[in-house]
Amino acid sequence: VWTGDVSIDLAPRCDPARVLVVDDDPCVLRTAIRVLTRAGLVVEQADSSAAAERKLTDHIFDVVLSDVHMPGISGLDLFQRARERDPDVQLILVTGAPELESALRSIEVGAYRYLTKPFGVEELGRVVTEAAAVHHAEQLKRSAMQRLEHKAAAKRELRENLAEVLATLFIAYQPIVEWSTRSIYAYEALLRARSEALPHPGAILSAAERLRSLPLLGSTIRARIAADLERCPVETVFANLHPSDLLDESLFSPTAPLSGVARRIVLEITERAALDGISDVRARIERLRELGFRIAIDDLGAGYAALASVAQLEPEIVKLDMSIIRGVDCSRPNQRLIKAIVAIARDAGAKLIAEGVETAAERDALLDLGCRMFQGFLFAKPAKDFPTVAW
Ligand SMILES: [Mg+2]
Repeated sequence: VWTGDVSIDLAPRCDPARVLVVDDDPCVLRTAIRVLTRAGLVVEQADSSAAAERKLTDHIFDVVLSDVHMPGISGLDLFQRARERDPDVQLILVTGAPELESALRSIEVGAYRYLTKPFGVEELGRVVTEAAAVHHAEQLKRSAMQRLEHKAAAKRELRENLAEVLATLFIAYQPIVEWSTRSIYAYEALLRARSEALPHPGAILSAAERLRSLPLLGSTIRARIAADLERCPVETVFANLHPSDLLDESLFSPTAPLSGVARRIVLEITERAALDGISDVRARIERLRELGFRIAIDDLGAGYAALASVAQLEPEIVKLDMSIIRGVDCSRPNQRLIKAIVAIARDAGAKLIAEGVETAAERDALLDLGCRMFQGFLFAKPAKDFPTVAW
């Protein structure tokens, strides 16, 4: 059964139902045990209230079948004790002399049935089996409710965490440099927030994804970048798009804050976006170009269909993923791969940026391979106030 958030497995139970039969008449006990055992139930018996209380302490029962009148305790009081241990336990009251008062009290304690002696053995078997099925269903319902409550609580907490992120988020900027002129070509805008619960952009994005708040997060970030642009010392800023941003109409709105400065913005799209089942991705990219945005393919080389995405999206800029940059001075395979991508980018008329450059040896190897633009800790770490570069 699918309740929307939690599925409940209603497969037949594999363990037999357990019944406690309480009666001080040995003849009734014998008959009940024979009938119920034959019906496939596990039966425990008690011929006194003290014995019944012991059984209730030691075992869990689906059904308690009890005589109304027991020496020392009434069947109804016994039911109340059983209910305190398991609120779902089903109670069946048996009496030889039906009285209005005990009938009313059995309704009050929520007894499943009130059986009047004499009753047929078939009726007894059927009623107890039904009561056991009701107990099983009640327990499934209770555990499903608990799971739903846990899920709701976790979601509430996640929502509070994301609200904290939205309240404290800021953008850090990392320079993208042109080595030959020792100049800053652009800055990449990177999401940052002061949140212990969601300490890095990956955690923030996956929280927003789970809460279906990616459009809100994306438009908040883009508005912040547009506001920061006034302070930016160079013309161009690179902004990362999440693949799902391409499905958000507010990205394409000419009146959105970032659209107003589109000519200064390069939108970075991971190659994943081209493959993530966004069917009209090319048409969407064209709409962004019409607004004035340029497009960069981000993280190129990290995925399996890297070059296909260059062909499909015809980006103005291609960014090599740091996974193929790291240690490139010592890796012949990565050098060959980068050489091939440099040729393809040149052929396609796209600029190439090597990301994640951390050592002078990596930089020099990349220069030898034909890379001219770099980004990485070697030049500057991301920081709020458009950091400068120590050449
Ligand atoms: Mg990026």
